[in-house]
Parts: sequence; structure tokens; C-alpha cells
Amino acid sequence: LTVLVVGSGGREHALAWALQSSPSVEHILVAPGNGGTAAIAENVPIAATDIPGLVALARERQVDLTVVGPEEPLARGLVDAFAAAGLTAFGPTAEAARIEASKAWAKDVMRAAGVPTAEAQVVTDFAAAQAALERLDFPLVIKASGLAAGKGAIVVSSRREAEEVLHWMMVQRALGSAADEVLLEEYLEGRELSFLVVTDGTTVLPLLPARDYKRLGDNDTGPNTGGMGAYAPVPEVTDELQRTILERIIHPTLAELRRRGIVYRGVLYAGLMLTPRGPKVLEFNCRFGDPEAQAILPLLETDLATLLLSAARAELSGNWSLDWKPAVCVTVVVASGGYPGTYATGFPIAGLDTVPSDVLIFHAGTRRANDHVVTAGGRVLAVSATASTFAEARERVYRAIEHLSFPGMTFRRDIALAEVGGNFK
Ligand code: ATP
Repeated sequence: LTVLVVGSGGREHALAWALQSSPSVEHILVAPGNGGTAAIAENVPIAATDIPGLVALARERQVDLTVVGPEEPLARGLVDAFAAAGLTAFGPTAEAARIEASKAWAKDVMRAAGVPTAEAQVVTDFAAAQAALERLDFPLVIKASGLAAGKGAIVVSSRREAEEVLHWMMVQRALGSAADEVLLEEYLEGRELSFLVVTDGTTVLPLLPARDYKRLGDNDTGPNTGGMGAYAPVPEVTDELQRTILERIIHPTLAELRRRGIVYRGVLYAGLMLTPRGPKVLEFNCRFGDPEAQAILPLLETDLATLLLSAARAELSGNWSLDWKPAVCVTVVVASGGYPGTYATGFPIAGLDTVPSDVLIFHAGTRRANDHVVTAGGRVLAVSATASTFAEARERVYRAIEHLSFPGMTFRRDIALAEVGGNFK
């Protein structure tokens, strides 16, 4: 097979890395890729959102399977365009990707399906939003309905703060049309869980449950980011909890989509809050998580190319199940100083060649410049280690990170610490 991976982050490096070990895969293209994918695949300088360009590439290079990393090309109809051209791409159609691209629509689907989720009301103008605040309690979560690259969900603790955020979204229009609709959402307490499944619309194959760390700083302090680390599996997810999530959340959601004439194929990612009253949905995503993919894929034993191709062709069946290494994986993201705000790039990354071989280094914001790899983004690398215990995996990851350096380099020190009895979180 010739496989095309679309995207340029750590998730896409992990996908290319996992696809590379599939016996059926002969060649991997990544568009546009990064400094890490360049070493294991062929980078092609086409943007992830250039759908006609990607269709042309897939045709010309006779690509058998295209795997899409980020949400934006999915929401813009990449899978639809590929299907129209007779090409196979793994992921939901634009219509199905609305589960992520419109939080208002996703709420409507969940309500119709009876799926437990945070209560929310949708407002479309500032005056209506202000009026609605009169009847709401704090803390409250204000969310832009559309895609906002992780910047669209803000927790507010007072009416004044709420009005400021609403003004920023709805009057200043800081997030553009992503905030045409805004959700005023009940704040839920609990621990978060990333629960991902691969589905062809009928058969559902759960991936190992993962936990990601959204805040920049140790002990969940500082601003939200794209994700500073992750681990898998999550021991508190018992077989029974997994069954509950599948029966109360995943299956009813897919059934409601079918009722609306939408066959969902691809990864369905439920961002859950484990509350005292059971798991509730915070959001759905229509693709692999980043950095969850970098913690989940190293544990997958099943051939990823065959899995994704079968799902894309609607050829999964009840006979399918996934095999996992009997191990755990810890992933720590190494970021540029200043991220998620402004930061400088172009610094050579020292130590990549002396990192011990018991970790995996997935590149995100990097590129090759002459003979070395330089920083090119906010999240620069994801370092993953598998081991039989969280303590051992953490030790490997943090030992490896000691070898790495570039000016301003930053990372969290508490990833998976709670699983070894640490007292962060
Ligand atoms: P992502 O980058 O994951 O796509 P997003 O911008 O789409 O994020 P959400 O995932 O809905 O937004 O929210 C981001 C984070 O805000 C969540 O991971 C969670 O930590 C917090 N959050 C969201 N909704 C709630 C809620 N109802 N109660 C408490 N915390 C919440």
C-alpha cells in the first residue's frame, strides 16, 4: 500500500511511525509533515487544508489510503472530495465532522440521543447572552460553537468575567465566525478522560482510554494549550466503566447520527468528565487526539493500516478486536518558551542523537535546516515511553528529556504522576 498522512504535528508523526510497521505498507507520504516525518517518510509540501492539491497528489501517486490527522480538512470535506474522486480516506465526511465543528449541533445530537452531557444553552447575540446570564450559576463555561483551535472554551467565575468573554467573542468577534453561536455550559467537576473509538459506522472498536493534560503548568495551572502530555491506559477505566461509556454515549450517538442519515466513519473521540453521577460528554472530536495518539499508538499491536483501511471501506465486523501490548505509555510534550502565547522559533534542538533508544521521539513543530533539526512551532516534540509500570515509563521519558535542549524549552513534570501516587492533581 501507498499511504498518505495529512497534517504536520506529533500525532501525524506517530501515525506515520505506526503505519510504517504495517507489513502491507510500502510507501508513506506526509503532507506537509515535519522534521521527524521527513526521516521516516516522504514529506510533500502541500497544506493539510489544500483539498484539491491533496486529491491531485493522491491520484498522481496512486495512494491507496489517506489518513487525516487534524479536524479542519475533515470539516472542510476532504473525505467527501476523496470519495468523489474514487479515493479512500479514513475519517468522517464533512457532515459527520460537524460533531466537532459545531458544538451546538453536537449538543442537539446528544440531547436527541439521551447522551449524558453538560447542560447548555445556545445564544447567537450578545444581548440574548447577557439576558441568559441572569438565570445561570457560576462557574460557567463559555464555548464558541465552531472550530477555534483549542481557544474557544473559557471557564468564568463571575457575571462580570462572563460578560467580558462574551463581549470578546460576540462583539469584538475575536474568534470570527466560530462564535456565531456560543454555548453557555454548566461547569462539571471530576477527572477528564479521552475515550476514542475507531468505527466504520457499524462496528465500534474502542482504543485504550487516555488522559491528556491541557494546562500549560504543573498541577494544572496556567492557560489551556493543545495538550502538554498524555498517558494510556487509564487504570480507573474498569471494564464496567468502558461498557457504560459505550452503551450510554458512543452507541446512542452513532445511532442518532444514522437516524439523521449520517454514517460516521473514522475516529470518534469523546472528551468526557468522570463525574460522581457518571461519565458526561464535554465535547466530541472527529479525529485522533494530539498528544493522545502519541500515547495510544505505541501500545497498539494490531496492524494500523489494515484497521484504518477496513474502517474506511466499511469492512470492519464483529470479528474484529484490537490487540494491545500489556504495558503503559507516558507522553510528555516539549514546548517552546512562551507557548501557547507568542514564542520564537528556529533554534537548533540539541541532544536528539544522544537520546536513549528506549523512548520514541515524535516531532511536532520542527523542521530540518541543513544538517540539523530546528524548532518551528509551539509544541516541538512529544517524548513517549512504554514500560510495564507508570513509574518506569515516567523515568524513561524524563531521563530522555534531560538530553534535549534548546533556548526556552519547557515541559510539564507531572505527567502520569497521579498514577504513581504523586500528589499533583
Ligand atoms: P479541544 O482543544 O480539546 O478541541 P475545545 O476548545 O474544543 O478543546 P473543550 O474540549 O470543549 O474545548 O474544552 C476544553 C477544556 O475546557 C476541557 O478539556 C475541560 O478541561 C474544560 N471544560 C470544557 N467544558 C467543561 C465543562 N462543562 N465543565 C468543566 N470543564 C470544562
